[in-house]
Amino acid sequence: MNEIEQLRAWINECEPGRMVFFGGAGVSTESGIPDFRSPDGLYAQKYGDVSPEEMISRTYFDKHPERFFDFYFDRMIARDAQPNRAHLKLAELEEAGTLSAVITQNIDGLHQKAGSRNVLELHGSVLRNYCMHCGRFFDLDEMLVLREAAADGVPRCPDCGGIAKPDVVLYEEGLDDCTVQASVNAIRSADLLVIAGTSLAVYPAAGLIDFFAGDHLVIINLAPTPRDRYADLCISAKVGEVLGY
Ligand SMILES: [Zn+2]
Repeated sequence: MNEIEQLRAWINECEPGRMVFFGGAGVSTESGIPDFRSPDGLYAQKYGDVSPEEMISRTYFDKHPERFFDFYFDRMIARDAQPNRAHLKLAELEEAGTLSAVITQNIDGLHQKAGSRNVLELHGSVLRNYCMHCGRFFDLDEMLVLREAAADGVPRCPDCGGIAKPDVVLYEEGLDDCTVQASVNAIRSADLLVIAGTSLAVYPAAGLIDFFAGDHLVIINLAPTPRDRYADLCISAKVGEVLGY
C-alpha cells in the first residue's frame, strides 16, 4: 500500500464525524493564490524594505493605511480564484458525514465556495469587512467599489467615513477566542487529523495540534515540518494531488 492508499484507507475506516482537516497556505496555492510571505522579484521594487509581515501588521495598518491597502489588494486578494481538488474533496467528505471540521489559516473563503459548512477560519476572511467606526458590514465587491471611489485607495464607510477594515487577523492582533476554542474541541474529538499545506511554524495556530489524541496523524506538505516525527504518515506532495483522488 502506498502513502496515498494508506490515507484513503484511514479515511474510509474513519467513524462518522471523526476526521478533522487543518490546512495552511499550501491548500490554496493550486487555486493560484500565492503565499504572500514569499517575496518575488517585483516585491522589492514596489514595497522597498518593508517585509510582508510588517506590511500586514496592525501598527502598519494604523500608520500607513494607503500603503497597507495597496499591498493588501495587490498581494492578498485573488478575486477569480476557484476551489481546487483539495477544497472539493473536503466538502464531499463533510457532506458524506466523515469530516467534522475544516480548520484553516487561509483567508480566501475557498472552502465555503467549494461547499464546506463547518469552516474555522483562524486568521479571518477577506470576504468580511467592517467599518471601524460604526461596524457596517461590507463584502469584498463592496470593498473594491469603496477603494475605487477613494482618492487615496483606502476604503471608507459611506455612512460615517470610518475605514473599512478586513476581518483578517493582522500581526500583533490576537486570534478570535471562539474560533480557537472550537478548533481545540474539533481536534480533541478527532480520530483522524490531516494537516496539510502548512510548515507548522506559526504559533499559536501550530500549537493546536498538541490537542490531538486520536489514532492517525497525517501531514501532507511539500517540505518537511518540525512535527513530522509525531506523524503516523507524512506525504511530501501537493495537497490537491493527494486528496484529489
Ligand atoms: Zn461606518
